[in-house]
Amino acid sequence: MKPIQDSLRKWGSQSDLQKQLQQLKENVLSHQEIRSFIDSHQLTNDIVERHLMLFYEYTTQQHSCNSCSSVDQCINVMKGYLPKLVYTGTRIEIRYEKCDSNIRESTMKKQQSLVQGMAIPDEVLNATMSDLDTLELASKRRAVSLAVDFIDQYKSSPPPVGLYIHGSFGTGKTYLLGAVANELKSRYKASSLLLFVPEFIRQCKESLGNDSLARRVQAVQEAEVLMLDDLGAESMSSWMRDEVLGPIFQYRMMHKRPTFISSNLGVDELLHHFSYSQRGEHEQLKAMRIMERIRTLTIPVELTGKNRRDKK
Ligand code: ADP
Ligand code: MG
Repeated sequence: MKPIQDSLRKWGSQSDLQKQLQQLKENVLSHQEIRSFIDSHQLTNDIVERHLMLFYEYTTQQHSCNSCSSVDQCINVMKGYLPKLVYTGTRIEIRYEKCDSNIRESTMKKQQSLVQGMAIPDEVLNATMSDLDTLELASKRRAVSLAVDFIDQYKSSPPPVGLYIHGSFGTGKTYLLGAVANELKSRYKASSLLLFVPEFIRQCKESLGNDSLARRVQAVQEAEVLMLDDLGAESMSSWMRDEVLGPIFQYRMMHKRPTFISSNLGVDELLHHFSYSQRGEHEQLKAMRIMERIRTLTIPVELTGKNRRDKK
C-alpha cells in the first residue's frame, strides 16, 4: 500500500509544482520587455518555451541604473552589469554589459590612477556653487552666471562650451572650477577631471620613459569634463605644446567634450606664452593654431578682485 500513497503524494506535489510553473510562466511572459522582445523577433512558441528559465533570469535582474547610486548597491548577478536579451537566429542568450554606473566608476578610477599625486586642496574638493552666489564683483557675477548656464545646459546636445577663466592670483579661479565639478557631479553624476597643468606636464615628462604617456594623454582627451587649472604657469616646450596639449584640445574639439581652462594669463598673453618655447624659438603659427582650438572650446571670462589668500 505504501508505494501507492507515496506516488499519490508525489502526484499531488507535482501538480502544485505545475501550477507554480504555470504562474511563473505567465508572470515572465507578461513582463513588458520580454513581450516586446518576443514580438520584435517574432519568436515561435517552441523557442519561447525552451527559453523560459532564461527569460525568468532576465526578469529578476535590474535593467537600468537610474535609481542606483553606486555599483556596490547593484542587485544583479554580475554587479555593475545589465542584462541584455540577444536572439542569435537559433537561440536566445543573455549578455551582460557594463552599466552606466560601472563605466563611470571605472573611468574615474582609471583617471584617478593616472593623475595620482595631483593634490587638490580640500577647500576645492568641497567648493559649492552656493558659496559663489554671494560674490560681489560684476566680473565675478559674469563668471558665475556663465558657469551656472553651463551647468544648466550640460545635458543639451551638443553640450555647452566650457570657460577660459583668467585673472590674477587668488581671485578664486580654482575654487570656481571645483564648484562646477561638484555641481555637475551632484546634479548629473558627471565626472570632471581637474588637472593642475604644471604637475600634469611634470608627469607627462616622467611617463615618456615608461611608455604610459599615450595612455595618460588618452585619459585626458576622453575625460567627460576636463578642467585644466593654471595653464600658462608652466614652462612650455614645443613638444608639450604640439604633442600633448595640441592633440588633447583637437580631440576635445572634434568630439565636443566640455573643457575648462584657468589661467593667470589673458588670451593674448597666453598666445605669447605659447609662441616662445623654452629654447627661445619663436613659433607664432603653432601658437596661433593652439589658441584657435582654445577659442573654439571655451568662452573667455575674467575674474578680478582682491587676492582672497591675503585675508588668511
Ligand atoms: P586662484 O585659483 O584664482 O589663484 P583660488 O581659487 O585658489 O584662487 O582661491 C584663493 C583662496 O580663496 C582659496 O583659499 C580659496 O579656497 C578661497 N576662495 C576662493 N573663492 C572662494 C569662495 N567663493 N568662497 C570661499 N572661499 C573662496
Ligand atoms: Mg588656482
